[in-house]
Amino acid sequence: MKKGSLSINSENIFPVIKKWLYSDHDIFVRELISNGCDAVTKLKKLSLMGEFDEPDEPYRIDVIASPDNKTLQFIDNGIGMTAEEVEKYINQIAFSGAAAFLEQYKDKATEEQIIGHFGLGFYSAFMVADKVTIESLSYKQDAEPVYWECENGTDFSMDKGDKETRGTVITLYLNEDSYEFANEYRIKEVIDKYCSFMPVEIYFTNADAPAKDEEEKATEAEASEEATAETDETKDAAEKKEKEAPKPLNTTTPLWTKHPNDCTDDEYKDFYHKVFHDYKDPLFWIHLNMDYPFNLKGILYFPKINTQYDNLEGTIKLYNNQVFVADNIKEVIPEFLMLLKGTIDCPDLPLNVSRSALQNDGFVKKISDYITKKVADKLSGMYKIHREDYEKYWDDINPFIKFGCLKDEKFLEKMKDFCIYKNLEGKYLTLPEYLEAGKEKYENKVFYVTDEVAQSQYINMFKEEGMDALIMTQTIDSPFITLLEQKNENVHFYRIDADLSDNFVDESLSEETAKDYTDKLTELFKKALDVENITIKVEALKNKDLSSMLTLSEESRRMQEMMKMYGMAGM
Ligand code: ADP
Ligand code: MG
Repeated sequence: MKKGSLSINSENIFPVIKKWLYSDHDIFVRELISNGCDAVTKLKKLSLMGEFDEPDEPYRIDVIASPDNKTLQFIDNGIGMTAEEVEKYINQIAFSGAAAFLEQYKDKATEEQIIGHFGLGFYSAFMVADKVTIESLSYKQDAEPVYWECENGTDFSMDKGDKETRGTVITLYLNEDSYEFANEYRIKEVIDKYCSFMPVEIYFTNADAPAKDEEEKATEAEASEEATAETDETKDAAEKKEKEAPKPLNTTTPLWTKHPNDCTDDEYKDFYHKVFHDYKDPLFWIHLNMDYPFNLKGILYFPKINTQYDNLEGTIKLYNNQVFVADNIKEVIPEFLMLLKGTIDCPDLPLNVSRSALQNDGFVKKISDYITKKVADKLSGMYKIHREDYEKYWDDINPFIKFGCLKDEKFLEKMKDFCIYKNLEGKYLTLPEYLEAGKEKYENKVFYVTDEVAQSQYINMFKEEGMDALIMTQTIDSPFITLLEQKNENVHFYRIDADLSDNFVDESLSEETAKDYTDKLTELFKKALDVENITIKVEALKNKDLSSMLTLSEESRRMQEMMKMYGMAGM
């Protein structure tokens, strides 16, 4: 028996761990299961190199919970550890690594500066357990089993173990605050969150669930036989067998790991429904698959949005070698892409650093630029090759594209020529197409409609005059118009009721009559509005069906809208 103390100052560390206890403390599940996956991966590599004979039994990870004993076990049949390896990798490296990690982050723990607390590793077990034991048998020939035990994360003892099969068993004796993790539904939920796509099959067992006796099994079998009485016998038997065989909790080869050429539309859709719990089909998707200069795989979906009911919030799930990191990490994923739904797996990301370090990392910037470029390429490609599809999707995807243009200069550069707008006829035009068509009548002016019902009178007049306008009714259109004006010198946007529709003015009205009307109306408005200064201009309309028409200065209207937006309406 060997005893020792770990070079960790518990006074410093436990307050930090306690702080985390109430946020991400479920990450210990991810850490322990991913260690099991690593142990299996190492063994697979050794067998590829011919240094280990592929075993008959499949590689697997078992999670066994005992709600009665308040324990949780993580079992793998991977590479295992010898006593020397436990000494080195656990007592020295893992513990000193954890100490360094905690030291570095202890002041930042509550600021959520750390992405998914990467770097705590094996030691994260002590976030939920008072006592942790390791039983391990290395794959090495004639290896001796080892037993390791540690209470409170500081004092350990090591002894000869009695494990007879290759691999490692980690047992957690949960602390009082963490009993929830022995609950079958709770632990399965956490496994589902972090481990859905880990590369080794994960099975769950509730150690305290009453074992089914023979009688129960027989009645169940009878019931299922009755239900399927009409199917033929062999199929029946096969189905029953499949039902009885325990199923892994995870999918070891998520769709993004496959080559895009090997994936069918149905597979993409199924994956979408399953991962994002959205019963609607996505519009289309982009499969990212890159090996060089960095490794990045993933699938980005354009969801069907009903702007009336759905909020425009997507989810981008970030993975690191099939291990879930977190949703919507803004340091890695450009903000506008978070309107999409997708998974991104990037093994090269430096995750054991603070968020601010990640944000300033040139490599991370490259990754996010690459994703942006891929999305723009997909969209512009669709515009060029399948414009019909593009137009069909436009209503759904335009808020995303406009937001992207507003947020990201590079995306704007790539997409500006592929933004289209619905005109009064319901046809989609690009800005140059609209300007070209109107160059005789309203050079470099773009008229737009923000409310098709309220502005229908103006729409009709425009149509009569053979003039066109663009439908821009969404909230994002207002900042987007400002952007378009900044980027297209000389081009100016006017709402369809703006005061410059010269085309509608009947020039034959005499100056005298106009002055007469103006004076009378000015008096009237002064009284009615109780103001001293008011400027009124009277012009005759070509259209004789209309008795009057109100117009607004584009500039002052925009100013008013802006003030309203910033809550300065009264100023
Ligand atoms: P990391 O996984 O980043 O190396 P951990 O603290 O999670 O850090 O684990 C430390 C080390 O302990 C691992 O690198 C590995 O050598 C060893 N180890 C942990 N769990 C297992 C396991 N289940 N099987 C074999 N070795 C393990
Ligand atoms: Mg680890």
